[in-house]
Amino acid sequence: MPEKKYMMTPGPTPVPPEVLLAMAEPIIHHRGADFRHAFVECSERLKEVFKTKNDVIMFAASGTGGMDSAVSNINAPGDRVIVHSAGNFGERWAKIANTYGLEVAHIKEEWGATPDPAKLAAELEKNPAKAVYLTHSETSTGVVADLQQLAAVAKEHGALVVVDCISSLAAIPVETDAWGLDVVVAGSQKALMLPPGLAAVSISDAARAASEEPGRCPSFFLNWPAALKALGNETTAFTPAVTLILGMNVALGMILEEGLETRFDMHTRLGRACRAGIKAMGLELFSPDEDRSAVVTAVKAPEGVDGQKIVGTMRDKYAVQIVGGQGILKGHIFRIGHIGYYDIFDITTALSAVELALVDLGADINRGAAVTSALAAFEE
Ligand SMILES: *Cc1c(COP(=O)(O)O)cnc(C)c1O
Repeated sequence: MPEKKYMMTPGPTPVPPEVLLAMAEPIIHHRGADFRHAFVECSERLKEVFKTKNDVIMFAASGTGGMDSAVSNINAPGDRVIVHSAGNFGERWAKIANTYGLEVAHIKEEWGATPDPAKLAAELEKNPAKAVYLTHSETSTGVVADLQQLAAVAKEHGALVVVDCISSLAAIPVETDAWGLDVVVAGSQKALMLPPGLAAVSISDAARAASEEPGRCPSFFLNWPAALKALGNETTAFTPAVTLILGMNVALGMILEEGLETRFDMHTRLGRACRAGIKAMGLELFSPDEDRSAVVTAVKAPEGVDGQKIVGTMRDKYAVQIVGGQGILKGHIFRIGHIGYYDIFDITTALSAVELALVDLGADINRGAAVTSALAAFEE
């Protein structure tokens, strides 16, 4: 019999059976009335989850495709923009902006830092920027930024606010309109409980106007005006990812039926449980020990143990998939994701496997305490 596998990463995440079933149905044509109905419903549900009146468009792409579309549609080569980063995904904004020949002022904070709004304000006062590129949940470190405050600073200085909410949307509060976020990018394989392959992007009137100015960085496929025009006609510019959109419509229906607030509360408690279990083992957290960090828990590998070996042992011996550190953090940390289709038993399973793997690797940890502590923290 094949081994039962557990997916405990901050993307991809497990997909609920209801969503898998919707995606197993025979393909329908994307210009027919049945798909049109599901597409319109899905687009409306996306607005509810994004907390916005703005249009939300979808691309058949990973989350990075949505980020790429933001840079190329808003900006023209030579535009001055600010990227405020504190980890791998934040730095990706700078890489994309450099690819398009923008003039990038990069506020590059240490990986693991919480982005400081005062640094953003200082940069904007020195040199105004057309747009500010932010990361809400920095999945590489587990840090969740104070997005409301950062966005307020950028707005005050007249910049467009563009945010990577790929791992935060539907996991923790994202208030697109109330916080003045011009562009919010999400990805299907995180808290939206779908397989990888869909990017969703919300576009404010100001961002839309910027995308209609002449001289934008050229992109034929990731083209906002074309996508928005098609959306106005209840369709898509090109063949959409039909299966994923049908699945997303079901997943968003489930999320909205349960209620966003209930989902946020669940993620807060899962985060608490995971951190409590890790600390009970005697391990040290890398991500902040705060409720806001409810997306992914990053843990320092114990002295003398390679973080990659923890991940490898958990996967190969116990069929539990977590992830290690990226870039400079590789080998030094491991990360447990807890967004989307997760419950407390996923956390206790992950903690049990961490415990077993660390014993296998000869680490000196407290045994038998993690699961009890996690359950208690979840109930608090
Ligand atoms: C997963 C993730 C991405 C990358 O998305 P892809 O779907 O791999 O392109 C970008 N930013 C954050 C914060 C993420 O968590």
